Amino acid sequence: MSDDAKPLNFIQQIIEKDLAEGKVSKVVTRFPPEPNGYLHIGHAKSICLNFGLAQQYGGVCNLRFDDTNPEKEEQEYVDAIKENVRWLGFDWDGEVRFASDYFDQFYEWAKYLITEGKAYVCELNAEQTRAYRGTLTEPGKNSPHRDRPVEESLALLEAMRNGDKEEGSMVLRAKIDMASPNMNLRDPVMYRIRKASHHRTGDKWNIYPAYDFAHGQEDAIEGISHSICTLEFAANRPLYDWFIENLPVPSEPHQYEFGRLNINYTVTSKRKLKNLVDDGHVDGWDDPRMPTISGLRRRGVTPAAIRNFCDSLAVAKTDGIVDMAQFEFFIREDLNDNAPRAMCVLDPVKLVFSNADAAETLSAPTHPNKPELGERSLPFSSEIYIDRADFSEDTTLSRKKFKRLVLGEYVRLRGAYVIKADEVIKNEQGEVTELRCSIVPGTVGENPPEGIRPRGVIHWVDANDCIDCEVRLYDRLFNEAAPDSGDKNYLDHINPDSLKVLTGCKGEAGLKAAVAEHTYQFEREGYFCRDSKDHGDKLVFNRTIGLKDNWKK
Ligand code: ATP
Ligand code: MG
Repeated sequence: MSDDAKPLNFIQQIIEKDLAEGKVSKVVTRFPPEPNGYLHIGHAKSICLNFGLAQQYGGVCNLRFDDTNPEKEEQEYVDAIKENVRWLGFDWDGEVRFASDYFDQFYEWAKYLITEGKAYVCELNAEQTRAYRGTLTEPGKNSPHRDRPVEESLALLEAMRNGDKEEGSMVLRAKIDMASPNMNLRDPVMYRIRKASHHRTGDKWNIYPAYDFAHGQEDAIEGISHSICTLEFAANRPLYDWFIENLPVPSEPHQYEFGRLNINYTVTSKRKLKNLVDDGHVDGWDDPRMPTISGLRRRGVTPAAIRNFCDSLAVAKTDGIVDMAQFEFFIREDLNDNAPRAMCVLDPVKLVFSNADAAETLSAPTHPNKPELGERSLPFSSEIYIDRADFSEDTTLSRKKFKRLVLGEYVRLRGAYVIKADEVIKNEQGEVTELRCSIVPGTVGENPPEGIRPRGVIHWVDANDCIDCEVRLYDRLFNEAAPDSGDKNYLDHINPDSLKVLTGCKGEAGLKAAVAEHTYQFEREGYFCRDSKDHGDKLVFNRTIGLKDNWKK
């Protein structure tokens, strides 16, 4: 379906109405990650939505780091996130923004609310605060400090800021309504004492704003027209609006919530992904099994596949779980259309021809449907490799089931000759060590003579001019569809076979020039890209995905 034919999602409907009514003159969105981990596929949905809407309506999208939580945040994450967003094909408006750029303004606004009688410093301890808060069925009680004089709250806030007060000894709270049925409005915390160094502001602050006292104001400062977040923030919206209404903010943004993306057989939570990294279950945030943008990239998934997948998802007001196969469909679709072809034998056995003349150079299309990409050359000599699994001595195998090489029969080598298997050489253990074969002359690109019926087409590489490589086969990281649902511990459901390393693989000579993250289709095997890590002289390929969906349900 073309973009024009697609029905508008509910956010597009709101935007079009706002534009038509003149409520909004320019669409300004933002993607607001917290730099406490690497981005995952769920974030990609938010990125495609926010940047996509800005593009669609001629507006802009900001990249803003929600860096209000100093303990968990790091520059490494900031750098990785910027890089991930660019790689996905998006560019933010102007400079990258940080919540911490606005800390001085937030502080002024906090003092403003105190002066207006709408905020106060509260010294209840954690346990008392909980007791005073009430429950979903019972109203809360006012803090004994709720009506303390403005001057006192101002002085205490300054002392908190200066580091004169202990962590946990007091907080700044908004004075809203301790009896509100919405717990978020029961005098929520605005500032907490945290004597932690911040990755950008260093030791300047001993207090940090709560998410709720920061996010809407960041949006207002940046003139965000549509602040899009995930459903779990729906109950925070009245609080978002309360701050916007009660502060002298430069603009009045609105928050809209959509369902987060969850995919089966994986987890999409930075915290859980961080545990996988920290506990060594994977080889870093960019391990090709990780659902992180960096992991998908290293695995050979293209930005277009991720964007197409995200565009295919409903933007709805409910959470859902998407089948991994749906994502894989888009990965395959893009690679099938665009990946150049190559041959690589994963489990090689040597095949020697009795009648091959001197070495020659054959050729095959780089991509069967893209003649403009030209041809690749395939060296061919009297010794080649084929895959062990492509040969059988069992002459009773049906032609339908086994379309490969059988002793005494014929098969076609992709882009080369029809050949016949004449003899099998084995070692003492009975393993096949070599196949003696003969070429049917004149069959490159030509049908064989009458009476010669090849069973099928197999891939091969020239034994005298090929590359040695290691191939890493990845499978799903979890063997449970919902590894973190209910009281399950996702760490108990890690698939022990999610990585299989094959050494001694043989690839066609042209793969010497393989560039990292540039995915090939290894014919009959799947899609593979060269690993981006430095392996010295060794060539390492990651399997992006198989040719077909082989997952056993
Ligand atoms: P996590 O639980 O993985 O840390 P988060 O929501 O805390 O996720 P943020 O860095 O705060 O992560 O998120 C940045 C933006 O991405 C937010 O607007 C958030 O709503 C959105 N987002 C995060 N996870 C998803 C998801 N699974 N699907 C869609 N959007 C998401
Ligand atoms: Mg978060």
